[in-house]
Amino acid sequence: MEGGCACGEVRYRLTSDPLFIHCCHCLNCQRQTGSAFVINLLIETDRVELLLGLPQPVEAPRDDGSKQRIFRCPTCQVAVFSEYSHPGVRFVRGGTLDQPTCVSPDVHIFTRSKVDWVMLPDATPAFEVYYDTKALWPAASLERLEAIRTVRRRDW
Ligand SMILES: [Zn+2]
Ligand SMILES: [Zn+2]
Repeated sequence: MEGGCACGEVRYRLTSDPLFIHCCHCLNCQRQTGSAFVINLLIETDRVELLLGLPQPVEAPRDDGSKQRIFRCPTCQVAVFSEYSHPGVRFVRGGTLDQPTCVSPDVHIFTRSKVDWVMLPDATPAFEVYYDTKALWPAASLERLEAIRTVRRRDW
């Protein structure tokens, strides 16, 4: 899968399937996107291959006082991916894919602040706040996550 920003300066390719796909309805994501929710493809940082351009990190304040690092095209400022607590995992914004219809959420989170007119399908798990990764992620994705954590421990 490939994607990029609006002006074409930033282009990326995902070198494998994502670990898991979030549709997040939290207030932070709503504010950051100016929309009702965000679609985040969680994937190892080293599996987001930059084909063109260098997205610049911007520290955006969150409601809890922490900062979220959002990577934007230096020219058109479209956000292509972000980083939460773990630098080994990127949250790629699904709307920046060349074909956004190729992906659909594995889970809906923070539905407590979901706008009323967004209807969720019964078949997709949905949570008022967050969920238990171990309970929901496929075994292969959990193994990949464990591999990232192991690398991090070596870094320390
Ligand atoms: Zn751009
Ligand atoms: Zn969110």
